[in-house]
Amino acid sequence: MIRNESKLSLEELQEQIQAFLNHPDHTEGKEAFRGKDAPAATAKEGEPGKSDKASAALERIRAFNLKPREIRDYLNRFVIQQEAPKKVLSVAICDHYNHIRQCLADRELLNSEYNKQNILLLGPTGVGKTYLMRTIARMIGVPFVKADATKFSETGYVGNDVEDIIRDLAKVANGNVELAQYGIIYIDEIDKIASVAPEGVRDVSGRGVQVNLLKLMEDVEVNLFSPTDIMAQIQALFSLSRGETAAPKRTINTRHILFIVSGAFDKLADIVKRRQNKAQMGFAPRELSLSKEGETHRLLQLAETRDFIDYGFEPEFIARLPVRVPCDPLEAADLAKILTQSEGSILNQYRLDFKGYDIEFTITPEAIEEIARRAYLETTGARGLMTILERLFREYKFQLPSSGITSFEVSTEIVANPQKALEQLLIKNQDLKTNALKKDIERFTETFKRAHNFTLHFSKEACEYLIREALRQDKTIFFICQETFKDFQHGLKIIARNNGQTTFTITPATIQDLDKELSRWVVKSFKVPSKPSKNITT
Ligand code: ADP
Repeated sequence: MIRNESKLSLEELQEQIQAFLNHPDHTEGKEAFRGKDAPAATAKEGEPGKSDKASAALERIRAFNLKPREIRDYLNRFVIQQEAPKKVLSVAICDHYNHIRQCLADRELLNSEYNKQNILLLGPTGVGKTYLMRTIARMIGVPFVKADATKFSETGYVGNDVEDIIRDLAKVANGNVELAQYGIIYIDEIDKIASVAPEGVRDVSGRGVQVNLLKLMEDVEVNLFSPTDIMAQIQALFSLSRGETAAPKRTINTRHILFIVSGAFDKLADIVKRRQNKAQMGFAPRELSLSKEGETHRLLQLAETRDFIDYGFEPEFIARLPVRVPCDPLEAADLAKILTQSEGSILNQYRLDFKGYDIEFTITPEAIEEIARRAYLETTGARGLMTILERLFREYKFQLPSSGITSFEVSTEIVANPQKALEQLLIKNQDLKTNALKKDIERFTETFKRAHNFTLHFSKEACEYLIREALRQDKTIFFICQETFKDFQHGLKIIARNNGQTTFTITPATIQDLDKELSRWVVKSFKVPSKPSKNITT
């Protein structure tokens, strides 16, 4: 992957930059060049944060002592269903990190034969494949990166180097190369790089991508800085020039990086079925009670290495993925459980969003069922929940924060027709809206006082006028006031200079023709004998 021409010219560039940095005139301001992704190894001693976190994470890996059941129990708090993947993953993860711990304690072990437990997850979109891995990575405290196999081409990844995913891992580890070497890389849509397309057409570039990935899954050293990433090279030089005695490690070894790949593999089910049919002379009984997804899931459970090879994977590639497990399709009842039982439920996120405006909501069990039912029809697994909830809450999030409403209930009526239910809710709570609008006036007067040190007192009629205007124009009172009183303070300053007045009463007439009123006040202030008194009002 390293391009010689670009490497050569970069070396020249590096020399020039180093010479520049060594010049005494250029020693100041180097700190300013520390990028946010600069290696943590370059962090100043005693600097809290990134490097401390990385050392703590490394310490945890060195002392890894989790048991498969503990990982499974932790996953149960977040991930609904997927019992088989949870078990398989828990065992594979424990084996992997136990092996790392043993290698760290006894370096001799590094030379012994060991097959990494790279994992292949099969299953449709939105059933929790990424979620499982992300949750595990968080539990163990190792860096995690997700990439998409469709972005790879034989020559690179999104136009760059395939090895960039390894560098991404170092970025997530805040530049700590050692921690990055124990990270997890998750590559989705792996079924899209099969070298024989399911229709039987050979796809040569798919094979090339597999070969490139295969190298990464093995034991290779990847340069921390891409030869094409000039900015990263410059950053590295700046960190070097900060006077560290030891240069940070510049390559990442992939030996202990765990690779998880996943894909829907729905066409693989056909291959398994054909093989089964052949073996049973065409009399393979179909599981009549199973749905289409259920049947696919059943067949994927029976997939063997030769099926993956028929699908278009190189034998060496599929051999590097010894742990294979299909994920369950999610039923509507599972989606309901995700809403109510998963600690990472999307519903919690909405609760927090509303809490930001001091609004709470309850949700009836029937509404949960209805949301789950609608989400199921989206056929995108748990992602369907996000679609339905976004549609449901969209207008509520816009309207309620300015409505004065502090709580509401999500019922089946709301799920069925959110717009209509919202209108009814707003009408029912019209008086709260008036209160909220009054509060907006107070908020504006406080802001004005803080900015200009003048107190505006809105008369009862002025408040009513503003409220009417806000409703009529469908604008917030805050916005109307800001527009109306934009340059008000200049005139008030003249008045204050003349007579010391700092409190002003606002009437509907003031709002309707501010310039005229202000001119009148200013003229009047010139006539008053200049004896300052804070209590004068206009
Ligand atoms: P995919 O299988 O396509 O990788 P994800 O894991 O990205 O799907 O799922 C998207 C989101 O849906 C997750 O972040 C999570 O919030 C939710 N989700 C998906 N599956 C489950 C599940 N089995 N249990 C709980 N939440 C889930």
